[in-house]
Amino acid sequence: MPHSQPLHPTNGERVRLADYAPDFVGTYNKQSAQEVLDSNLARLRELQNVLYAEHKHAVLIILQGMDASGKDGTIRHVMRGINPQGVQVTSFKVPTAEELDHDFLWRIHQHTPGRGMIAIFNRSHYEDVLVVRVEELVPRSVWEARYEHINAFERLLADSGVTILKFFLHISKAEQKKRLEERLRLPEKRWKFAVGDLHVRQKWNDYMAAYEDALTRCNTPWAPWYIVPADRKWYRNLVISSVLVETLERLDMRYPSAEPGLERIIIPD
Ligand code: ADP
Repeated sequence: MPHSQPLHPTNGERVRLADYAPDFVGTYNKQSAQEVLDSNLARLRELQNVLYAEHKHAVLIILQGMDASGKDGTIRHVMRGINPQGVQVTSFKVPTAEELDHDFLWRIHQHTPGRGMIAIFNRSHYEDVLVVRVEELVPRSVWEARYEHINAFERLLADSGVTILKFFLHISKAEQKKRLEERLRLPEKRWKFAVGDLHVRQKWNDYMAAYEDALTRCNTPWAPWYIVPADRKWYRNLVISSVLVETLERLDMRYPSAEPGLERIIIPD
């Protein structure tokens, strides 16, 4: 895929989101992107089939981004056509009292994918260094330690056969305004509008600073971050589907070998 804006920041490099244009579309337009998306989705279906059959690898897709950045839309569009038996989507909300009585990764670990499965996290443990940090829900010393906890946790998953992909859906503040206005206007989207989202929007710069730290400090070889230009939904879908296909191709998966002697079997009438 031609891409003159890096998608994956170099490990160890300090991420500055100002260097990443949210409206970047490379050489694509809506129509050419749709063609590649369609072929990616067809390939993805085949790859998921082998992933499920081989029962060796697991895949974890983490989606993070500001409100209206397209986390739900990504799941709808990119996972379209995938066999539901092999996918599990978890949306992480404000933690319950029981969850808060445990370490912050307790509720996360229960939803990591088993062999053969793709798990999608709509928000994730990154909320614990994003909203929790910006809203000062715990002291600084607590959230500061979490970057290392996250890296160690993701390392454990990777060492256990989980391929981790983390996507930050990067939208501009202006594009968020447009999308929130649309939510207010359209009856079928209005249910998604939460007045609290405006409070988060007011702290946009604080959130961007928190994202920059998470993208810098948790961009590891075993759990890479991708900064997805997400102002154009069609480009966002193209990018994520391409990364997924390329990553799954590299796993070099095989169907399990069949039982011996099947060629002699005749199915009785
Ligand atoms: P959506 O993801 O569609 O916005 P909600 O409107 O239910 O879904 O939002 C979930 C909310 O839960 C978000 O405001 C998010 O910041 C919050 N949240 C998720 N994880 C945590 C956490 N660990 N601590 C505090 N708030 C969290």
